[in-house]
Amino acid sequence: MTIQWFPGHMAKAKREVQEKLKLIDVVFELLDARIPLSSRNPMIDEILTNKPRIILLNKADMADEKVTSEWISFFAEQGMPAIAIDAQAGTGMKQIVAAAKEMTKEKFAKMAAKGIKNPRPMRALIVGIPNVGKSTLINRLAGKHIAKTGDKPGVTKAQQWIKVGKEMELLDTPGILWPKFEDEEVGLKLATTGAIKDTILNLQDVAVYALRFLAAHYPDRLKERYSLAAIPDDIVELFDAIGKRRGCLASGGAVDYDKVAELVLRDIRTEKLGRLSLEKP
Ligand code: GDP
Repeated sequence: MTIQWFPGHMAKAKREVQEKLKLIDVVFELLDARIPLSSRNPMIDEILTNKPRIILLNKADMADEKVTSEWISFFAEQGMPAIAIDAQAGTGMKQIVAAAKEMTKEKFAKMAAKGIKNPRPMRALIVGIPNVGKSTLINRLAGKHIAKTGDKPGVTKAQQWIKVGKEMELLDTPGILWPKFEDEEVGLKLATTGAIKDTILNLQDVAVYALRFLAAHYPDRLKERYSLAAIPDDIVELFDAIGKRRGCLASGGAVDYDKVAELVLRDIRTEKLGRLSLEKP
């Protein structure tokens, strides 16, 4: 992901999404189930005014199931239907279409009342920040590989509709929106999940954040993974303990903190520490 989100690019991304919205009956707002708030565009309500919207908590396979159910209730209380999905495996696809039908029911009923006999399929758009799984989901719904990965706002091409069964059409290019940047913790969470490149933030800073989070919320998994009898309060001691256990050493035998950071983040992103949710409602 190489997008630089300068104010001009953000304004353009917003315009591009709003342009697409003119053609759309229902929007799928794709979020990362592990970080539903941090993976959310800060201006989403303003950008999607008055469009029926369904929240898709993607990568639910990597998130804590219990916490994901709490998020679904949380969004439902705000009047927003939310569905947990795994775009990679294709879990939840039927629910997506069913929810979209429900959300557009009234609009199509009105069309029918005006005498339109054969209503067109409902038209849908996927929006989300980079790496949340938009292309994967489009490919899934399309049933074959159509959408190209790679996010380049500013690169426009002719838009096409992908048929999803008989009742829905999906715009083949998703709406790409920027994440929240104003809050440092948001950046650390995005980096922990791998949503932003490791070169953007300091790797050790990200690992410090991730280890503190694990120590506070999933201490048993941390102990088990790195064979620790207890979790030291001091973060440097924790790095040392993991580094010694796992042989993350520099020449001379001292613990190499970069290696520890890489190891821990790789373990998190490949689910070696189990299914993790970094945010609760
Ligand atoms: P985009 O930038 O929003 O289009 O994101 P991509 O579709 O390119 O996905 C980013 C990464 O997340 C890829 O490595 C996908 O394989 C992975 N991914 C997408 N959806 C899922 C999912 O539901 N579960 C898991 N585990 N990985 C996913």
